Amino acid sequence: MRSAPSYDNADLRRLDVAHHLPPQQDWALQKNSGGSRIIVKGEDSTIWDAEGNAILDAMAGLWCVQVGYGRREMAEAAFAQMSELPFYNSFFRTAAPPTIALASRIAGLLGGSLQHVFFNNSGSEAVDTLVRTARYYWQARGEPQRSVIIGRKNGYHGSTIGGVSMGGMVSMHNQGGPWVPDHEHVMQPYSFEEQRPDEDEDMFAERAARAIEDKLLEVGPERVAMIFGEPVQGAGGVIIPPRGYWSRVEEIARKYGVLLGCDEVICGYGRLGEWFGFQHFGVKPDLVSMAKGLSSGYLPISATAMADHVVETIREANAPFVHGYTYSGHPTSAAVALANIDIIEREGLVDRTKNDTGPYLAKALQSLADHPLVGEVRSLGLLGAIEIVSEKGTSSRFGNKPGLAGAMIRDACIERGLMLRAVKDTLVMSPPLVITHDEIDRIAMIVRESLDACEPALREAGVT
Ligand code: PMP
Repeated sequence: MRSAPSYDNADLRRLDVAHHLPPQQDWALQKNSGGSRIIVKGEDSTIWDAEGNAILDAMAGLWCVQVGYGRREMAEAAFAQMSELPFYNSFFRTAAPPTIALASRIAGLLGGSLQHVFFNNSGSEAVDTLVRTARYYWQARGEPQRSVIIGRKNGYHGSTIGGVSMGGMVSMHNQGGPWVPDHEHVMQPYSFEEQRPDEDEDMFAERAARAIEDKLLEVGPERVAMIFGEPVQGAGGVIIPPRGYWSRVEEIARKYGVLLGCDEVICGYGRLGEWFGFQHFGVKPDLVSMAKGLSSGYLPISATAMADHVVETIREANAPFVHGYTYSGHPTSAAVALANIDIIEREGLVDRTKNDTGPYLAKALQSLADHPLVGEVRSLGLLGAIEIVSEKGTSSRFGNKPGLAGAMIRDACIERGLMLRAVKDTLVMSPPLVITHDEIDRIAMIVRESLDACEPALREAGVT
């Protein structure tokens, strides 16, 4: 058997710059910094780079490695399925056992009328499927003019043409359009930046939900297909909506008879202390996209779940839904996802997030709230955020370049052995669901040290 080629760190970094174009990055920065950091190994919540540095991964890869790294049984599930049947398609009225077993397992976790599952490879594709389904549903019901989808500004729904159109990120809309028409975006429920001093939480929730209703009325309710959003906006900066927001949004969807869709790509699979974010917020969507935690990122797989009434309508159309991917329901990815769900269930990781590690992370973050650079800390389950401000008690940021302080503190954390992410000046984290109390303590300790280390430079003349 041929062994895998081996490279040293310097070689890999050189080849990275010469040939590898990384996603969602500044390619000039990649080149000028001498290439990517090479990550070579993972075990539980820790990753190692090629220089031997251990880094506590408070991002769970990219919000996805729920069960932690190095799980043999995931590799064994892949090996067993690959040995039996690595791949077969689901196009020819054929399907492999793990594909069907996974659909049924997911339906059980979703509960209610969300009993049908369509597979894709990535979160973006799950969202694309969801949009096509919502619009096709209305076509099948004889209301093809219902094509408008209302989402939120700064929402993230992926990087395909469909995902970017659905998402509300201006930086993405500025590159590579034009975009798919009939996507509208309204204010996000981001209390730290958008709640007015004269508003309490209920009033802010009402105003943010009202923005959806106002848009719906502006567009014309008869043209709206769906209201869509992440239960908690992840990539936008861990934006936890105010109490009552989601039930108001659901009420609006029902009042005007439009579909409600939830993007559970980050919130799903225990992240918020329930299997899905919509269960935490107590709403019942008609369509749900999921990815990431579905397989803990061990293999790519995503899914779009649909309520009974959606599927019944489409079945009544008596025509093929001409949509799907070669790897929809990939048997090996499905087998790995099943092993992943087994682990989450067996180890009680959803309950542990809700009742143990989630509250423990909240307390750890709270211990940072007194720091002069911290404007707010917030968390829900194992999703957390720290707002960096230049003046305590305000939401003002350092310098005239948003993101300067966030990037500086994030880099200081990484240098000290903690991987987290900065969304402009919001530090965000999403650790594996297997994170321990000691590791959570270490997150708080390293963040504090990094805040202390960066404060003098940030306060230097010209920066504030
Ligand atoms: N939706 C949400 C809510 C996401 O967070 C992401 C990825 N961060 C996506 C969709 C897109 O997923 P992918 O990168 O797998 O295409």
